[in-house]
Amino acid sequence: MQIPAINGSGSEIVHKQLAYAKKLGIPVRLRVYVERIIRDEDGRVKGLQVREGYRFPNAQSGKVKSIKAKKAVILCHGGFGADVNYRMKHDPKLTDKFDTTNQPGATSELWREASRIGGNLIQADWIQCGPWNSPEEKGMGVALYFAQGAAATQGIWIDCATGKRFVNELANRKIRADAVITNNNKGHTCIALADQTAVDLTIQKSRPGILDKQLERKVVHKFATLEDLAKQYNVPMDALQATIADYNKHQAEGTPDEMGRKIYKGAQAIGTGPWYCSILSPKVHHCMGGLETNSKGQVIDVSSDKPIPGLYAAGESTGGVHGAVRLGSCAVLDCLANGRIAGRKAAQEQNWS
Ligand SMILES: Cc1cc2nc3c(=O)[nH]c(=O)nc-3n(C[C@H](O)[C@H](O)[C@H](O)COP(=O)(O)OP(=O)(O)OC[C@H]3O[C@@H](n4cnc5c(N)ncnc54)[C@H](O)[C@@H]3O)c2cc1C
Repeated sequence: MQIPAINGSGSEIVHKQLAYAKKLGIPVRLRVYVERIIRDEDGRVKGLQVREGYRFPNAQSGKVKSIKAKKAVILCHGGFGADVNYRMKHDPKLTDKFDTTNQPGATSELWREASRIGGNLIQADWIQCGPWNSPEEKGMGVALYFAQGAAATQGIWIDCATGKRFVNELANRKIRADAVITNNNKGHTCIALADQTAVDLTIQKSRPGILDKQLERKVVHKFATLEDLAKQYNVPMDALQATIADYNKHQAEGTPDEMGRKIYKGAQAIGTGPWYCSILSPKVHHCMGGLETNSKGQVIDVSSDKPIPGLYAAGESTGGVHGAVRLGSCAVLDCLANGRIAGRKAAQEQNWS
């Protein structure tokens, strides 16, 4: 496999980890589906039942094998954001109407299996939706870089039915996603809006080329005048102008606006066309809940509140790390820090056999 020198995504971290694992002679097994966690009568986790040669999503594919864990098993099966049935058990509003930013394999089998063998599942209904996504593209997409990077910082988010802002565009993800969902449930479309100045001061600088891509994919839309934009989305023009005037008043005074948003450093008055917007539609993004672990990464037993011998967990499969709303950029840090702790502690276990 040709590994590029450097890239700006999370795969850069994984490439480095893979190279190091190779150096240490640690095998990486692909297409191996973990079907069962083997917990013995003495309470210890002693291995896994897997399907080698598994083909997603066929649960019957591959050859069943057992793998003995001499010291311990570390679970790191991620979240279940793509599993509509399971996520609806925890948060019934997250029906199949909601797309997800997750890959299709973000499913629940190991969440169920870890529960079955006694792992204590906590806060599983704390499922975060990304507030900035667009329904005009699948998955995470690219519109969010406009909605968050330009409109939330130096523009506004508005409810098209009223022409008014409805949330602090820099509030946490839950507050913003809930506000959009509330409006959507009333049949109201919400859009992120920014003018040319805002776009020039933000994404044109921080992500050169992204605006062209967003326009090309028709997930960010460009209008010569504010009237054209308002007409397209049935926004009452008077109310929209009043909303912008109010923003500009606070921008000029440097005072927080009615939603409590502080004026972003360097932000200018809104008013220079052309105008840009993207439609907002929250997508299921991150599972804050998961297996309860202690500071060593050991999984806690639901019946005893004590660690399950031989079982560790890290990353999105664990719960209680991020509270109700995880902060952007902190998930990978959680995975790396707690993954290292769990790995180190598991390696220090005595060989039980
Ligand atoms: C689009 C997107 C952008 C993000 N951007 C950021 C960011 O900028 N910064 C940040 O900190 N976080 C970000 N996150 C969150 C972060 O990427 C995840 O929380 C993190 O990758 C989780 O890592 P993990 O190793 O715990 O799980 P995952 O990376 O989800 O890996 C778990 C793996 O286990 C596999 N698996 C599941 N069940 C089984 C089974 N039974 N048998 C075998 N394999 C199984 C899954 O298919 C998956 O490959 C982003 C998430 C998404 C979706």
